[in-house]
Formats: sequence, C-alpha cells, structure tokens
Amino acid sequence: MNIIDVKNITYSYGGNTNAIDNISLAVEKGEIVTIIGPNGSGKSTILKCISGYLKPQIGEISVNNKSIREYSAKEIAQTMALMQQHFSLDYDFTVMQIVLMGRNPHIKRMQGETQQDYDIANDSLKKAGIFHLKNRSITSLSGGEWQRMILARALCQQSAIMLLDEPVSGLDIKHQINLMSITAKLSRENNISVVCVLHDLNLANNYSDRIILLKEGRIYKSGTPAEMMTKENLEYVYDTPINIINYNETTIITPEIISE
Ligand code: ADP
Ligand code: MG
Repeated sequence: MNIIDVKNITYSYGGNTNAIDNISLAVEKGEIVTIIGPNGSGKSTILKCISGYLKPQIGEISVNNKSIREYSAKEIAQTMALMQQHFSLDYDFTVMQIVLMGRNPHIKRMQGETQQDYDIANDSLKKAGIFHLKNRSITSLSGGEWQRMILARALCQQSAIMLLDEPVSGLDIKHQINLMSITAKLSRENNISVVCVLHDLNLANNYSDRIILLKEGRIYKSGTPAEMMTKENLEYVYDTPINIINYNETTIITPEIISE
C-alpha cells in the first residue's frame, strides 16, 4: 500500500521556471526512498511539498489516502517528521527541550508532558547517540551533534513517515554511517517510510530501497539502487565523469578527479 502518493505536482516560487515540474512518486509503508540530484534540482522543494509546507500550484499529494490539503497542522505533525536542511534556532534551549518538542503533536491541549513522553524522549536521545548531551545548551553543540539532536526530535515524534533533507551533512563518516543505519533499522522495525535526500551516492546506494534521480526539477529515472547507480545515469544527472568500482563485493561510486 502506498502511504505517500504524489501525482503530477508542479511548484514555482514565482520565477520564470518551475522549481519542480510534473513530479510523480509513490512511497510504500516501510520503504526508504532516496532522492538524489544536483544542487538546485528541486529535492528540498519536493520534501517541502510532501510535508505540506509548500502547496504545489498543480497536482495532488495524498498521505494515507487523504489529500494533504485536508490535514490540519497537528495531523501533519502526527503523521510526518521533517528533518530540514539549514535549520537553526538562536534560543537557549537544552537538547532535551528540543527533543521533547517532538512530542507536541501528541500532547493534549492544556496538558503537559507525561512520564511516557519523557521516556520516549530519553529513548530517542539514546538511539541518536546523544543521551549524554541531554542537558547541554543547544548553542554549545557542534554541527554533527546538532544534526543528531534533530534526528532525535524526529524519532521522538514517532510518526509513520520521516522526511530527511540531507540528514548526514556535516557529520563525520562514523556518524554518517551511524545515522543512516539507525534510520534503516527504525524503518525496518517500525515500518516507517523514509523519504531522504542524500548527496553521498555510496550511502544512497547502500541504504535505499528505491532511488529517484532528479535533474532540473524533473524525475529523470527511478528504480532500485542497482538500476539507478550506473555510470551513464549518474554522469548524465551530475554532468561530470564518474567511476563505479567493484571491490570485495562492495560498489564504490566516485567522481573522476579533474585537475584544471
Ligand atoms: P535542491 O534541494 O535540490 O538543492 P531546491 O528544491 O532547494 O533544490 O531548489 C530548487 C530551485 O528552486 C532552485 O533553482 C532554487 O534556487 C529555487 N528556490 C528554492 N527555494 C526558493 C525560494 N525560497 N525562493 C525562490 N526560489 C527558490
Ligand atoms: Mg536542498
């Protein structure tokens, strides 16, 4: 069953060209779908449309067989967790306070957090590997710690859908692998659908059930990682020479180094 159904959406920020043009995609329950493509190709715009933050001028998005237009803000937050790019906050919250905000869509009006909410928040902090930072001020976090805090908040939301926009940007390699494997495990164990934007082609290749190749606001192709990660497809989408190396049953995708 498709949990997300995007049909022929077009979104324009008001300029001469559409940021995304006639995009259709479907995501099944428990599936990890990764969108890859060059800067400015429309990846974030697609996620923002699915999350209800942007309203496409043309086309239709349904989540759980209901049009996104019919969702209240609270219902959207109960259904989807969005981990955004370049998100920042200048207030002096603690990590725990931010993660607990993930519980907001579940808390009844005029009622504070329950012990259960704290338990879920603590569990999310542990899964994201930042339990030791729970009382730290968010202003003191490194970029990677910040990313993991935002993941913990998304986990704390316990929604059936996670929309992750470049979740590993700014993380060192250990934490990149760590974050992607936590995400994959959660998706597998709890049947969570994940739509993810990644720049790292090797992570995309290893952690996705399906990959969408985006170029200039349009879907060039979509399919399994093996079908999508070919030299021809990637060179066309990124417009740069790429090598695909098979080494010890591992596929390594790497751009050709160009010296000017
Ligand atoms: P990606 O995430 O793939 O880098 P985006 O979805 O952010 O791409 O952007 C797609 C296109 O829309 C780009 O040309 C970008 O400049 C434009 N765009 C994105 N956000 C805005 C905005 N707030 N106002 C105007 N144009 C925007
Ligand atoms: Mg983006």
